[in-house]
Amino acid sequence: MDLHEYEAKRIFGEYGVALVRGEIADTPGRAAEAAGRLGGKVVVKAQVKTGGRGKAGGVKVAEGPEGARAEAERILGMDIKGHTVHRVLVEEASDIAEEYYFSFLLDRAGREFLSICSARGGMEIEEVAETDPAAVVRTPVGSAGVDRDAALGVCRAAGLPEQAREQAAAVITALWEVAVGEDATLVEVNPLILTKDGRVVALDGKVTLDDNAAFRHPGHARFADGTGSDDRELRARAKGLNYVKLDGEVGIIGNGAGLVMSTLDVVAYAGQEHGGVKPANFLDIGGGASAEVMANGLEIILGDPAVKSVFVNVFGGITACDAVANGIVQALELLEGRGDDVGKPLVVRLDGNNAELGRRILDERAHPAVRRVDTMDGAAAQAAQLAAK
Ligand code: GDP
Ligand code: MN
Repeated sequence: MDLHEYEAKRIFGEYGVALVRGEIADTPGRAAEAAGRLGGKVVVKAQVKTGGRGKAGGVKVAEGPEGARAEAERILGMDIKGHTVHRVLVEEASDIAEEYYFSFLLDRAGREFLSICSARGGMEIEEVAETDPAAVVRTPVGSAGVDRDAALGVCRAAGLPEQAREQAAAVITALWEVAVGEDATLVEVNPLILTKDGRVVALDGKVTLDDNAAFRHPGHARFADGTGSDDRELRARAKGLNYVKLDGEVGIIGNGAGLVMSTLDVVAYAGQEHGGVKPANFLDIGGGASAEVMANGLEIILGDPAVKSVFVNVFGGITACDAVANGIVQALELLEGRGDDVGKPLVVRLDGNNAELGRRILDERAHPAVRRVDTMDGAAAQAAQLAAK
């Protein structure tokens, strides 16, 4: 699956790749607002899954909000090589001194990654390879992966200037983490730029995810066309939550991707006995189950009108169950304090570190929405039954 530039850059951001600030917009008005928030000159970039947007007139620098509005008006709806533009990425404009090329490409035949680097970026790399093959440096990535030294070696071999190498190497090692961590078959940055004030930034981004590895990345479902623009997903991502909207009725919150996935399974199974209700989402709150993280998660799930009940399934580890229990109760109070509706039933199952203590806290604080059930199957059955009513 190929990702849009803005999706690729969101992943890049999570891995610490140097980027410029940007916002996605689907109307000229929103593009203008984004430009206003970013301030100064901006670039308006067509989001279509094909290269050569620049040449086609889909990448334009604009002076301010009104300029961005005008460019977005022109670019939205445009056809680029058979792709209609539905969204534009509005980014802070960069003063470009030099443009480089970098990618990691999985060579299927060789079953290894190649790093491809060139000091002549900005144009199609195939073109450079044809006219000036020596300018494109291909290096197989060994079993040791890519560390700073390996990345610096590549930069030197490709003839990147001294002043850009250290920062470019940092981008390259982060891109390597992206390739491995996300099971990508291609991670490409063209151009990787050196700005006039000496910063190295990934100005474009292309990522192809390995569909065969999708089972290891439930979060990748958010990139499938049609669900990628879910508003709740965007808000969840902004809060650092790993959330995917599904089409059922039982909201799911868990800690750890593995636990959340098995929770989806038991809920779907229990749902068969209760009118066919299904999980409404995937939400992994990760290691931190603080009141704030819990409140963010609950806010997103309770705000989904399709959700009829919520199953909070936590296995206490470093964050022990008593902290999670306190987090749940405080989160509900926080949401009530803000006037949010917290009337939907919450089935909570706590296990692992300090489970007994956590359960006692839930009992003592006795929030009317909360029902404590101590087994996963039992809790799934109860959540499914409550959603079926
Ligand atoms: P592509 O044509 O689809 O690969 O889109 P890119 O994101 O690579 O942009 C194409 C070209 O537009 C780049 O190679 C740059 O030369 C130019 N460009 C993109 N962003 C900026 C910017 O912030 N400032 C300037 N001056 N040029 C930009
Ligand atoms: Mn490009």
